[in-house]
Amino acid sequence: MYLNKKRPFLRDKISAAQLAKFKRGTDIGTIAQGLFPGGINCKPASPAQYEKKLVETQEALMNRAVKIIYEAVFQYDEVLILLDILVRDGDSWKAYEVKSSRSISETYIMDACLQYYVMEGCGLKISEMSLIYVNENYVMEEEIELSSYFVFQPVTDKARSMKSFISEEIARSKQTLHLDNSPSIPVGLHCFKPYTCDFLGHCWKNIPENSFVRMDTLQHEALFASAYEIGFELEKLPEHFLQTKEQQLQFTAFKQQKAMWDLEAIQKADVLNTYDAENTAFCKMIACHYAMPVMQGTKPYQNFAVAVGIRFQGKDTFHYFSQNASGYQLLSYLFTESMPEDITYVFDDDTAFRSCIEDACKFISDRQNTVFQRLLGKVTSIRQLGKEIRLFLPVNMQNTSLGEILRYLTGNEIKLKDETYLQQDILSATADQKHKYDGAIKAYLEASERVFLFLQGQIER
Ligand code: SF4
Repeated sequence: MYLNKKRPFLRDKISAAQLAKFKRGTDIGTIAQGLFPGGINCKPASPAQYEKKLVETQEALMNRAVKIIYEAVFQYDEVLILLDILVRDGDSWKAYEVKSSRSISETYIMDACLQYYVMEGCGLKISEMSLIYVNENYVMEEEIELSSYFVFQPVTDKARSMKSFISEEIARSKQTLHLDNSPSIPVGLHCFKPYTCDFLGHCWKNIPENSFVRMDTLQHEALFASAYEIGFELEKLPEHFLQTKEQQLQFTAFKQQKAMWDLEAIQKADVLNTYDAENTAFCKMIACHYAMPVMQGTKPYQNFAVAVGIRFQGKDTFHYFSQNASGYQLLSYLFTESMPEDITYVFDDDTAFRSCIEDACKFISDRQNTVFQRLLGKVTSIRQLGKEIRLFLPVNMQNTSLGEILRYLTGNEIKLKDETYLQQDILSATADQKHKYDGAIKAYLEASERVFLFLQGQIER
């Protein structure tokens, strides 16, 4: 909080994926206003408008003709909040906070408790405080039915019971804010929970790049306690922390600054042992999903193919899809009709492909569904293979990119365009512009093939 308020310039750069997530949150908030139409919007266009919108919110609350307020702004106890939807309920108000996710976490509930505390502190009588989130089981019929698309979860009792806790937490935070310098809070697992903190770059800058606290096979608080006692350098790690094979491999990767893998596992990896160049296709899929169903029979966050690149028998082909039933049919045709059977498909990451196949099932023929099910057994990925052979690089593996894997294994560099940007660019291109992204997809095919062949070359004959 101190850094957010007093040193915002130290914040890490926001990634394309995070930006897309924020936008989705805003979009869903706007859609949820349709549950309670006809409200007045107090949303500040920028922080400079907070004061003005605080006044406008108060005026709207006093005006009996106003029944619904969107993005109401309140300030109490030096905490400023925005509430998505307020609905007049006699002399009280029902308060709704909208989340774009398909489930509710404890963090969301605590956010709602804070909002409740501030609104009550401002003198607002609240008869109900609820979170609204997306119903993952909703299937669109002819039109979107917002009352079925969203789920309401009342948190009024919880919010009432948390008032004194929230008050104490605010007091504690305020003490921190009045400090002349940043509080010296040691880094730890809290830097990643419940979200990865925006200030990692700043707080972690003095932690050595190969420190053992960066090993994702060793994530527990005791590790940080040890680090503060004995030092963060890799060689200081007490041996008893290295218990599993994964931990030992990652430790060696950090120590030797090179990729490591399990020699036994690589000998046994089926996909490497049965490799047949003529019957292996390297693939890249760019996929997307929309929080709102886009057509009849689809659900929230339904997955659609955006583009697929296939490298097969020395030839690269690139395919672009519309995000509708025809897109699913083209995807299905591509993999179930235009390719020979019994091909092994190697993606960089096959998660999106599997999700698209699952979501396509209602829109393709029974025969294609059967072929897909059979085909899924022949689909693998560099990511999956990495897990199977216990591949470790001298970096945290959770966010490792294909480019990094390639570089650490082979010393080659291939520039890979960020997938979120690539997806956005393709989606916004016209049909005849889309092929200008062939090269960016081809780079992924190239990288996957090189990584795969490198690993395949490590099998002892
Ligand atoms: S990176 Fe960790 S220590 Fe730094 S502000 Fe974030 S949570 Fe606190």
